[in-house]
Formats: sequence, C-alpha cells, structure tokens
Amino acid sequence: MFILPARGGAWLAALLAAFALAACATAPEPAPRWSIIVHGGAGVIERANLTPEVEAQYRAAMQRALHTGGAILERGGSSLDAVEGVIQEMEDDPLFNAGRGAVFTAEGHNELDASIMDGRTRAAGSVAGLTRTRHPISAARAVMERSPHVMLIGEGAEAFARTQNLEEVDPSFFFTERRWQQLEQNLQRNNLPIPQRPLGAPRREARVAWPDDHQFGTVGVVARDTHGDIAAGTSTGGATGKRWGRVGDAPIIGAGTYARNGVCGVSATGTGEFFIRVGVARDICARMEFNGESAQEAADHVIAEVGALTNARGEAGDGGVIVLDGEGRAAWAMNTPGMYRAWASAGEEPVVQIFADEE
Ligand code: ASP
Repeated sequence: MFILPARGGAWLAALLAAFALAACATAPEPAPRWSIIVHGGAGVIERANLTPEVEAQYRAAMQRALHTGGAILERGGSSLDAVEGVIQEMEDDPLFNAGRGAVFTAEGHNELDASIMDGRTRAAGSVAGLTRTRHPISAARAVMERSPHVMLIGEGAEAFARTQNLEEVDPSFFFTERRWQQLEQNLQRNNLPIPQRPLGAPRREARVAWPDDHQFGTVGVVARDTHGDIAAGTSTGGATGKRWGRVGDAPIIGAGTYARNGVCGVSATGTGEFFIRVGVARDICARMEFNGESAQEAADHVIAEVGALTNARGEAGDGGVIVLDGEGRAAWAMNTPGMYRAWASAGEEPVVQIFADEE
C-alpha cells in the first residue's frame, strides 16, 4: 500500500475536503419532506391603505393557514387533506373572498366557485355558482372523488353536495358588511340599481374601510406531502358585482388550478377572464415540464403574458400565482401591488408576505 508522508497526507486531505465542498455547492438541495404554499388573493394592497391592525389580521390568518396545513403534512397526511383543510378554514374566515366573506353578485347574492386537483392521478373536481354549501372546496373534492364528472354548476352542484351530506347554511351565513358596501360602491360606479340587503343580514353598520377595493381575496393552496404527492386547490366568490352567471378561472382546471406529480402545483388569483384566456395554471406546468423552466421562470413568464393581454374595455389582466415545483420548492409571481402569500416546508422557517416589494 502506498503510504503518503505526513505533509502529503494533509495536502490530500485538504484537496478531498475542497472537492467535497465543491460537490455540496453544486448538488441540488434535497427535496423538503413536505411543503405548502398559500395565497389569500392579489390586488391593490398597498402599505398606505392597510392599517397596522388589518395587516396584522391578514398576517395572522396566513400564519394559521401554514400551521393547519403544516400539521397535517407533518403527521403524514395527504396533500389533498392539507389543501382541503386549509381552504375550509379560509372559507370560514371573513377576511377572504371565499365562503363567508365572499363578494356579492349585482343581484346581491354570494355565488361560490372552487376547484381541486390531485397531482398523483390528475383527477380533478370543481363547482361553480354554489349559494348554500358551506365549504365549496369540499364539494369540489366530492365531485372529484365521488362522481364521474369534473365540473358541476349551480342548483345541480348544490343538489350533488347535498347527496354527499356536505354542510349547508343559510345564504346569509356568507354575508359581511365590508363586501356589501363594496358591492354598493361598485354598482353606483356602474350606474346599476342597488338590490335589497339580503334576508337575514345583520343591520347596516357604519361605513367600513378596507384596503382592497379591488375585489380580490380568493384563496388557494398547493401542497406536496411526505409521499411526494402534489395537490392544488382554489376557492372564491369571484368578482364583485358579477352578472349573468359569470364564472372566473378559479373553478376552471388548467386556468386557476393545476397539479401534476413530479412537475408542479399551481393556484391562481386575479381577473379570471385573463387567466382563462392564457390557461395560466396549465401553461406554467407545461413550461416546467417541456421547456425545463424553473417554477419561478414559468410563473414570471405567464404572469407577464396575463399583463400583456387586454379586454374589450382596454383593461389589462392582473393578479398572481403560487407554485410548487415537483420537489416542493416554492415560487410566486404577481403584477399587482400585493398578494397575501405564505409558504413553509419541513424544518424551514415559515414566510408570510403581503406587498410586492417585500423580501
Ligand atoms: N380569479 C377570481 C375570479 O376571477 C377572482 C380572484 O382571484 O380574486 O373569479
């Protein structure tokens, strides 16, 4: 055996250590055991019009979402359970435009949309125009798991939810003063009649001031569990003052929501019409799968595309997305001043952000 002199041995050891270091620096980080990313809507959310109290409420709600989802994933629960569990909680939280706290249609109703996708099988379920089902995300999951369909709407969707014993509430359960006043302002701006306050709504409160007159506040979650399975889900009341059975991107698989194991999970929020036209969620995943783009590159690219489109009124698309890549690494992009967003993974400090320029 060749024996190195002492000095040579030290030199070789140093060389080996340097190689090991270089290898560490270039080796891809191991995938986190689990990860979760959450959004609570995007829009004109600026420091100047967000009081410290309201900002603290949103940050606490986003922390809670990570906590709920993280606990499910940490104990080995599925990404689908984490997505559904977190969204249920956010649907009950009046801060968000989903479930209780949803925006109103021009006729003064709450019409709720939601979708969910299982990245393992690419099974998907969605509902649109629910008015009584407390948790639209659970109705979407029931469509996915217990019907041969992908999308159900209106009365029929509600009837199906009933057969699945999902909880029903009086429509006034979803009422919030803030959203009602947003509707009144929206209808006044558009010279449309203001409908009667809904039956069962509490007495009118003094004017409530909220930062996001832009109607957003949709919620979305993407999770990757300890088995590597990715799921994504989105839930919304849609857009303030919507009419004629308008449906946005949130319940459209491939626009507002998409998941595919080993590739991506996406949930979007923004002016749904543009997100449908671009096919945002699927396009992000396709870029990652076929172009080899990172989650961040794909998200940036597709949000830029949304912003480059205009509608018949000359308005440009706005909003944002949250993404996990196949290994559970998080990315997000937006072209609005803010998006409520938060992410966490096993063993990492959770991050909560609101404003576009926050690092
Ligand atoms: N994308 C939703 C819709 O157009 C709204 C939102 O995300 O705030 O219905």
